Amino acid sequence: MPHILITNDDGVNAPGLLALAQALREIGQVSILAPDRNWSVTGHNKTLHKPMRVWPVTLADGSEALTTDGSPSDCVALAVMGLIETPIDMVISGVNNRPNLGDDITYSGTVAAAMEGVISGYPAIAVSIEEGEPYHWRTAARAAARIAQKILKNGGMPRGTLLNVNVPNLPEEQVKGCQVTRLGQRRYHDQLIVRQDPGGRPYYWIGGEPPTSVLEPGADVYALAHGYISVTPLSLDMTHHAFLDTLRQWLEPAP
Ligand code: MN
Repeated sequence: MPHILITNDDGVNAPGLLALAQALREIGQVSILAPDRNWSVTGHNKTLHKPMRVWPVTLADGSEALTTDGSPSDCVALAVMGLIETPIDMVISGVNNRPNLGDDITYSGTVAAAMEGVISGYPAIAVSIEEGEPYHWRTAARAAARIAQKILKNGGMPRGTLLNVNVPNLPEEQVKGCQVTRLGQRRYHDQLIVRQDPGGRPYYWIGGEPPTSVLEPGADVYALAHGYISVTPLSLDMTHHAFLDTLRQWLEPAP
């Protein structure tokens, strides 16, 4: 039975984490180390300048978990460095309570936790679901379990690779299937909101409408918008390989 480490960025009491744990217990042994609070949109970070605490908690179904005041990526680092003694076969982060599509991944604490897993040498999956009430957590959690099983059965992934999974918020029987996709394009509509504190000094919020998607076939945003589970393989090698030669010609002129 594989041993799967679970974390998230919505906090240890988030319903998506519980659903994920319940679905993954069907296919393996599960250990949970998740943040004690919401770390959404905090990207990839590492706590080096202050100590972290870890303590046990009981989830809503009575199962045991560990929580910490560290970040999602700290959770993975702490676990694989020895805080969890049983060897880990895979890291899964989620189920996040909103999608992580296109450039969203650069902000995402959910994806960052999976990145930390990959950096430490473990196959990793980030799982997110579309927003909406009611949430169909089970759809996303069971999709994650099926995908994890396929990856383990096929011997893992290429080094430096993680899967970014986005699931439609639908009952399981209404999901059309699974599409392997590339990152799509998100359009952000952020606006600077300026207010004044009681002392008359300005303070700032980033506000505005939620991001929208550019719907192109083959992209993650397109698959999700059409009722499919989107699975995007991401590489931590962010080198733009196709641009290397051109840039060399610009910056390394022949003597
Ligand atoms: Mn989140």
